[in-house]
Amino acid sequence: MTTLSRHQQQLVNNSIKLIQSAFERHPAHNIAISFSGAEDVILIDLMSQLEQRCEVFSLDTGRLHPQTYRFIETVRNHYDLPIKIVMPDSNDVAELVQQKGLFSFRNDGHEECCAVRKINPLRSKLAQLDAWITGQRIDQSVTRTELAEVHMDGVFDGRNGDLEKFNPLANWRSADVWDYIHARQVPYNPLHEQGFISIGCEPCTRAVAPHEHERAGRWWWESATHKECGLHRQNLIAHG
Ligand code: SF4
Repeated sequence: MTTLSRHQQQLVNNSIKLIQSAFERHPAHNIAISFSGAEDVILIDLMSQLEQRCEVFSLDTGRLHPQTYRFIETVRNHYDLPIKIVMPDSNDVAELVQQKGLFSFRNDGHEECCAVRKINPLRSKLAQLDAWITGQRIDQSVTRTELAEVHMDGVFDGRNGDLEKFNPLANWRSADVWDYIHARQVPYNPLHEQGFISIGCEPCTRAVAPHEHERAGRWWWESATHKECGLHRQNLIAHG
């Protein structure tokens, strides 16, 4: 079994403290963890070590891998935790598909489809909250060179306007994530064993070679600096 280094244990302690601070600043029922079905299951594992719980939600774009759907169910059972599935507006999806087909993102870029399937439903969900907790990390993207652990969301509004965003894994590197997963025997998406690192929708995610950046597997037909889906884009340089 993997043992965490002193530095990694410190990362874990800091992350738990950050989640705890979210509970101290906001009522638990107005906070939610955003779980993507990839390695940010660590957020759920960290919360399981606290007395308080908040809602966990996952965006179902309708285009996820079958393995991801099964993994979400595995996590639900492993932690005995209800996971709210947030879906896009069916009329908006139907209109997009009718007008542009099922793979419009290949020609038009991913923004339009991501807006319909991810951003709009996320916006509606976040508008019910005071704060959200994400698994965003600095090392996940070539565009994420700065990322505060806590800051006001620069993209989305909360229940009363401001929405506070907590990124407890901001300073974790990929190796820290995997050492933690093995040390705590945290469930993970089986796609990771097939060369997938950053996992999103099935048509927009592919496995990467060992020497490639993990985001090389997302929207690979677009340039590296356009690989944010909009969920976090404007928050990357915001500081708390
Ligand atoms: S990742 Fe691809 S399929 Fe998923 S919402 Fe974005 S463009 Fe659409």
